Amino acid sequence: MEEDAGPPMHKQKSPGHVTTTLYLTLEELYAGVSKQVSIHRDRFCIDCKGVGGTGTPVVCTNCKGEGRRVRVIQVAPGMLQQMVEVCPICTGLKTKFPPERCCQTCRGTKLAPETANVLIHVDKGASDKSEVWVYQEGSDYAENKISGDVSVTIHQLAHPRFERKGLDLMSDVEISLSEALCGFTKLFSLLDDRVLKLEVPAGTTTVPGSVKRVSDEGMIHKGCRGHLFLRFKVTFPDTLPVEDVVQLKLVLPPVETPQLVGTEEECEMCDSAGPMQAEKENEEEEEGGGRHPVQCGQS
Ligand SMILES: [Zn+2]
Ligand SMILES: [Zn+2]
Repeated sequence: MEEDAGPPMHKQKSPGHVTTTLYLTLEELYAGVSKQVSIHRDRFCIDCKGVGGTGTPVVCTNCKGEGRRVRVIQVAPGMLQQMVEVCPICTGLKTKFPPERCCQTCRGTKLAPETANVLIHVDKGASDKSEVWVYQEGSDYAENKISGDVSVTIHQLAHPRFERKGLDLMSDVEISLSEALCGFTKLFSLLDDRVLKLEVPAGTTTVPGSVKRVSDEGMIHKGCRGHLFLRFKVTFPDTLPVEDVVQLKLVLPPVETPQLVGTEEECEMCDSAGPMQAEKENEEEEEGGGRHPVQCGQS
């Protein structure tokens, strides 16, 4: 149930197959969308009606009417490889019109390039990298009576608020320290026009980095619904007035102070970029450019 392509059995790419990509926002993928996509394709030349010239074509002398030829290439010193390639003179058609009877528009290729707009329907909840096929809107091909198909690969654009995994969505919600401790009511906009009311009652705290799930509010695809995950980020005040700290201590759980014996060593704790490895990499990148981590005191 991953892809939203057309009839499942028809996935053969014919010689006239045309591929293109379509960039879509998460909102467009959430709701489903129809879009005109511009493609380049070859269609039978109008001037010669796809014949390539007038009169009867003659057998191509380059490939002796085979349509392809074997070319020997050297892939490494002393190593030869045979490659079969389409005859560049008759472009695989096996026959060719002599110059005087050749169509001037298509130079005997029977085809003319054109740009066309093709309407693409992308299903609700279509996944990133999935393909949508439009049948017979691709290129004509000399040996084919039916035009090739067009396959459009969907590329999901990055979203400023949501991450997507399958049908699930994840979003960060910033709350203040007061909200984390005392509960809150917050509004949360979804990918359509709806707004959720997030409510945590007084008496329940929200731990920084904790994740809550809102069932069935993820992407919807072919009757399946993903979930919405909310990851809470708590904004702490940088400083607190000392008199407020005194008040806070009265209501917060008591702080445990260790018994000091006098032999403990002092140290200075400095701000750190994060995990130890990350800090090491930063140092290397900057090549000692003035940013040395402060040595924690070993006095
Ligand atoms: Zn040829
Ligand atoms: Zn022509």
